[in-house]
Amino acid sequence: MGKQHILRKIKVLHVSPEMTPLSKVGGLADVAFSLPEELRKCDVDARILTCAYPSVLDKAKDLGSKPVYSRRTVHVALNWKVFSGKIWKTFIRELPVYILDNPELFTNERIYPNYLDQESALPFFFLSYAALEVGTALNWHPDIIHSHDWSTSPLASAVKWHPFYSNYSRSIKTVLTIHNLAHQGILDPSLLNMTGLMEGFHIDGLEYYGLVNLLKGSINSSDMITTVSPTYAREISEPGRGMGLDGLIRANSHKLLGILNGIDTEHWDPSRDNFLPASYSIGNLEGKKQARGKMLEFFRWNDNGSPIFCNIGRLYDQKGLDILIPSLPELVESGAKFVFLGSGEKHYEEELRELSEAYPGSVGVITGFNEPLAHLIYAGADFFLMPSLFEPCGLSQLISMRYGTIPVARRTGGIADTVSDEDTDRTGFLFNGYSREELVGAVKRALECYGSSESHKTVMKNAMEKDFSWKTSAGKYHRLYRELASFDHKQDIK
Ligand code: ADP
Repeated sequence: MGKQHILRKIKVLHVSPEMTPLSKVGGLADVAFSLPEELRKCDVDARILTCAYPSVLDKAKDLGSKPVYSRRTVHVALNWKVFSGKIWKTFIRELPVYILDNPELFTNERIYPNYLDQESALPFFFLSYAALEVGTALNWHPDIIHSHDWSTSPLASAVKWHPFYSNYSRSIKTVLTIHNLAHQGILDPSLLNMTGLMEGFHIDGLEYYGLVNLLKGSINSSDMITTVSPTYAREISEPGRGMGLDGLIRANSHKLLGILNGIDTEHWDPSRDNFLPASYSIGNLEGKKQARGKMLEFFRWNDNGSPIFCNIGRLYDQKGLDILIPSLPELVESGAKFVFLGSGEKHYEEELRELSEAYPGSVGVITGFNEPLAHLIYAGADFFLMPSLFEPCGLSQLISMRYGTIPVARRTGGIADTVSDEDTDRTGFLFNGYSREELVGAVKRALECYGSSESHKTVMKNAMEKDFSWKTSAGKYHRLYRELASFDHKQDIK
């Protein structure tokens, strides 16, 4: 390696089952598009491999990025069978996107199964192993393959332990980004035989209390691991905070780096957001008022000037709904309105629906995934509620700050790294303990601020002025890749 590589760009293949704007379950989809896109601006030849779940190819066409069949097919042996995948190629903005197509495996519109077993895990093994095959198929050989979370974790394990794919260990370096340690991909070991990973079934590999833990395998086998904020990197190393893997994280701390996520500042930009009735910016907030009006109309509410709190996201325990929902009756008393957009655990959906029936003029709930409505709510609301139990990075607070919607959030993970509760540079209202009392306390502070239009304006301005683009973080990834692939001399990547 070394000098002969210095003149060419480093080649990096990102691999993710979800990628906005073609498919999305959560924040990973945003990162899977915007990180490689920004890396290309840093002179990295970054590309992405994702899957043709139903409607993905059509969506690409609708967006004007008509996928072209590359006339290349990859073949992967799994479960004593050979699975084949066509590779479609398209560009989204400037980013080359490869779409792996196998209608037999990529059937689940919701991408992730409710229950992981041999059958439901197959698409993720296929994607992971196909990522190792695309180099040969397309005659484009990545120096680095960058996987994300448990779903593409088999990739690094295969480079380490698979009888065939371990041949790549000299030419490919692997990076894993942990977006959420709560999801690890735990399975019965009977699957190892069919996936060729038997060699990795031991305590320093994939084995986890007699089961297979895909994320653990990748933590052990990847050349480098990142997670999505410096605070989350510290938190998951602490006993009791690593979802059963804190010891493993500590043992691998020499190759772990916390790099903050950014957001796609072109897509999330109130000054050119086509989903809004009018654009706006720090200098002219008239458009924010119009978004408020349209949002109120959507919920069939009159504008009585009361503050509007919103929450957009997956309705799971992680997001703090078990302290937020029981606080709502008390918070509604303050005269504020509350808007929810999300889907997830049925009991949370049900509890929110009941609250909207009990307080029809104050609580509005829309279940489901709705991108245009999300934009309208980010713009139209005054505050964004985020009482997360843990939050690896969190994109919602970054988006809301860009739209001048002030986060009221728990100081954890990436929230602690991105929201300031200092008088001198306030961009939000934070609380520490995971309790209803502390949450209500933070909301009350937000309400006081709303009552003083000058201080509310100052906080909005502070928040909207912050730079949450990918620029700095993509630079950190670039340095990490170069060091890993020995593109230049070792340097401090922190
Ligand atoms: P997580 O990855 O844990 O779901 P993040 O805050 O990192 O949370 O990212 C969530 C992303 O998904 C944000 O872009 C948010 O706007 C979007 N999102 C979540 N739920 C919905 C929904 N129901 N409708 C539209 N967008 C949603």
